Amino acid sequence: MLGGMVDASRPKARTTKAAVGSQPRSAWFPVFAGSLIAITLSFIVLIFVVADKFGGDGGGVPIPGAGDPRPTATATADGATVSQPPTASQPPATVGPGDIDNTPLLPCNNILVPVDKNHRLGADCAPTDLVALPGSASQGGEQLMRLEAKEAFLELVAAASADGYRLYATSSYRSYQQQVITYQQNVAAGGQAYADRTSARAGHSEHQLGTTTDVASNVASFEGFNGTAEAKWLADNSWRFGFIVSYPPGKEEVTGYAREDWHIRYVGRDVAKKVRDSGLTLHEYLLK
Ligand SMILES: [Zn+2]
Repeated sequence: MLGGMVDASRPKARTTKAAVGSQPRSAWFPVFAGSLIAITLSFIVLIFVVADKFGGDGGGVPIPGAGDPRPTATATADGATVSQPPTASQPPATVGPGDIDNTPLLPCNNILVPVDKNHRLGADCAPTDLVALPGSASQGGEQLMRLEAKEAFLELVAAASADGYRLYATSSYRSYQQQVITYQQNVAAGGQAYADRTSARAGHSEHQLGTTTDVASNVASFEGFNGTAEAKWLADNSWRFGFIVSYPPGKEEVTGYAREDWHIRYVGRDVAKKVRDSGLTLHEYLLK
């Protein structure tokens, strides 16, 4: 019998007692354990896929380092996980994920507030002039933006098209309530440390402003957009339409987030030009 051969040291009588069906414990247990591990890993992979597809952005701004132990992979603000060592200069999260959020509350209806992991928008903060983007400039269901940002985005899309690039908004406005749900789903799925790596506590996403959108071309995932010709076009030209790429490459230690070539935020043409000319990230500029 295979089991007896594998576990030769085990007394014969005990092997018989431990057997399940015709299989002794020593034979079925490794298979059972292996299956359990495989199922668990599959589940984790599934969560990441779902987080990328729907959360998109995972609901917003993650809190790298908020979990303990500190994660070795830093999630992007949009939920795509990028492997990189944690950065020492990241400001510590001020509260634990299960605690009351005592980070400073930002004024509502100001498109230049520094929404980040240390500043939040209130639960009742929602733009009153949200409008839907046309299907020609959006994917993944209805995408809402504030009127001024929407019109600027359509100009951006048209200019990109003239240069041979197809760009779409794939995830734009996200309400506070949507962020609550996304975070809670991630906590339920993988615990608080996992949720903090892949999403944000509600109120900490630039998407709540109604001026931010994620952009895709014809790639299937967020990370697939990084480094593409479309991403380069967006980085080089979005400021002309009043947008800034919030989390550019090479600035992880400054912004606290891995690069997100796809995540742009409208700040108006004048400010966008000033941000570009300053050489600062939007985050740094707004906190000046
Ligand atoms: Zn985003």
